Amino acid sequence: MFNMNKRTTNHDPRITVSFLGTNGWYDTDTGNTICVLIETPNEYVVLDAGNGIHKLDQDIKSSSKPIYLFLSHFHLDHVIGLHVLGKFKFKQGMTICIPKGTKKLLKTLTSQPFTLPLARLDFPVKIVEIGKSNKAIKFLEQALLMDHPVPCLGYRFNFQGKVITYVPDTGFCQNAVMLAQDADLLIAECAFKAGQHATCWSHLNPETGAEIAKKAKAKKLVLVHFDAEIYPEFNDRLVAQQQARRIFKNTVTTKDGQIIKI
Ligand SMILES: [Zn+2]
Ligand SMILES: [Zn+2]
Repeated sequence: MFNMNKRTTNHDPRITVSFLGTNGWYDTDTGNTICVLIETPNEYVVLDAGNGIHKLDQDIKSSSKPIYLFLSHFHLDHVIGLHVLGKFKFKQGMTICIPKGTKKLLKTLTSQPFTLPLARLDFPVKIVEIGKSNKAIKFLEQALLMDHPVPCLGYRFNFQGKVITYVPDTGFCQNAVMLAQDADLLIAECAFKAGQHATCWSHLNPETGAEIAKKAKAKKLVLVHFDAEIYPEFNDRLVAQQQARRIFKNTVTTKDGQIIKI
């Protein structure tokens, strides 16, 4: 069962997914760059660190639940918000999960002269590199490489039986279908418009996103990461929603501030 509501303080056993940033590439009046917060009864899980991450402290009210930040890749629209971490005072600290082999890159980006080093934040940070098999984080069921010009990980989470899949920047690929198999919720990027493809810099469009959901037999598809240049108006997202629904009926588009409960 799915509901869309205005944001409220959550003491709900259901999972709340808050869309803090839904743009791809850069910020516009339609929203901030990509950042999604999942609140479960046991943890907070943040998907990517676009500029939407500055709203994180509006929603993270409990200091008893651990916070995990999963970065898909290092294109700046997914990591530019690391610069904002310095405003937070999360008593429980934060675990930052990154693709295997990118720890040095993360350290470089979060150092002078770019920004405050992670070690100097007001809360402790732990870094975990995610490979193909990963046992360190119990709710992370699978992480697979996407089809993108740089190493980019998609994630499949299982929160006590509820499966949420995040398919970030990618062209249509089998790994995305695998991650989304029978998922309760598939959160997929939608940088391109219907019919639009690129071979050197792959992204999904409403149709290819819907194809992944259909092939995977996901229960619901949520589109995020609308390229700021290609989707200048919110209405463009509604058109994409209609196009995706022709292939996969249970599709919704998103805007910043929206929440979905499952
Ligand atoms: Zn992107
Ligand atoms: Zn990218």
